[in-house]
Amino acid sequence: MRIAIAGGGLGGLTLARILHQHGIGAVVYEREASRSARSQGGSLDLHPESGQQALAAAGLAGRFRSEARPEGEEHRILDPAGRTLVHHTPQPGSFAGRPEIDRSALRDLLLDSLPRDAVAWQHRLVAATPRPAGGFGLTFDGGRSADCDVLIGADGARSVVRSLLTDAKLSYVATLVELSIGDADRRHPDLADLVGPGNLWCVGVNQILAAQRLGDGSIRVGISLRAEDRHMDTYRSKRALLDMFDGWNPSLTALIEAGDNPSPRRIEAMPTGTRWAHQPGITLIGDAAHLMPPVGEGANQAMLDAAELAAELAANPAGPDAAIRTYEEAMFVRTHPIAEMSARIQAMMLSPTAADDIVRFFTPRPAEPAPAG
Ligand SMILES: Cc1cc2nc3c(=O)[nH]c(=O)nc-3n(C[C@H](O)[C@H](O)[C@H](O)COP(=O)(O)OP(=O)(O)OC[C@H]3O[C@@H](n4cnc5c(N)ncnc54)[C@H](O)[C@@H]3O)c2cc1C
Repeated sequence: MRIAIAGGGLGGLTLARILHQHGIGAVVYEREASRSARSQGGSLDLHPESGQQALAAAGLAGRFRSEARPEGEEHRILDPAGRTLVHHTPQPGSFAGRPEIDRSALRDLLLDSLPRDAVAWQHRLVAATPRPAGGFGLTFDGGRSADCDVLIGADGARSVVRSLLTDAKLSYVATLVELSIGDADRRHPDLADLVGPGNLWCVGVNQILAAQRLGDGSIRVGISLRAEDRHMDTYRSKRALLDMFDGWNPSLTALIEAGDNPSPRRIEAMPTGTRWAHQPGITLIGDAAHLMPPVGEGANQAMLDAAELAAELAANPAGPDAAIRTYEEAMFVRTHPIAEMSARIQAMMLSPTAADDIVRFFTPRPAEPAPAG
């Protein structure tokens, strides 16, 4: 059985690793030229019931612990005046919660666990054509081609494989502008102090200024704004960004002043509850299957998809279609409520009452009074 995985992100690599653990070979076709071709972005918190569980299935829990930063779970929420609304500090050294790990460290950890030839770099899939006798012919940018019996689309938000299964359209839900502050402790100690070891969210009306500490000592700044009909280039100007935060405490907007290279992008999502009719020899995992707003679940679910699909394929090596069918049914049921919750949180974060709503969200409710009598 020749298994092709389109996309070597967190989902695709986790899948390849767990299949490899079970003695099942798979080729990951990745469009990037090498592991260092592109910056991998900020850090992620991996949840015990999803991302961490997948790493345990991959036999990588120990490596994860040595790379992860439990102290990165610390987070503060401020209002635009700089007043603290919520301050959460995790138990020192505890891995019981949702420890942070830099995306690049996590991807390296997965890549290092695979045989060297498991990833075919510089293979951007442009088309997959079903073969009459089963399987798919794959065509890559530049004219190269390959065949496979089973095709798994792990090719992210703008998946090429998805179009073979569903015509679900993406909707534009928010704009995110990211900036980076390198060597923060030395160059901007005040900002390093403000952000702390984890995450900071400054919540205004319809907009958020966030900052996150990475393991390399840099700070990643993220500006979230509502979806608007402006040209993305508008957001490349720091002056324009600072104008959007006019009236905010200057100690907060200093994060924008100090940030380099504002990079805007549209945040998109698939309709919640997207599913497709099973087709032989093909399926999707991760963002290709269920792109949701980035509120902390996408990578965790992508990795759990990978672990669940790998377990089904390993349990049923002679019947990949039954394995895919079982995986798909369970994945649709698991991810639907998570996608709905993510959409609700995304809308809440960019609403006029976001600060109150978020504080309520993070404040444990008092216990119900015991019934009288
Ligand atoms: C700003 C931001 C913050 C986020 N924070 C979190 C968080 O804290 N926690 C969390 O759980 N999730 C988070 N997410 C979501 C998370 O990043 C994604 O859900 C996750 O990366 C999905 O993994 P994936 O493997 O499905 O796709 P990806 O990680 O996008 O990987 C897809 C891979 O496929 C490759 N590829 C794409 N097209 C092709 C092609 N045609 N041919 C070959 N290769 C291709 C890409 O180069 C990439 O390597 C965040 C997302 C964003 C945007």
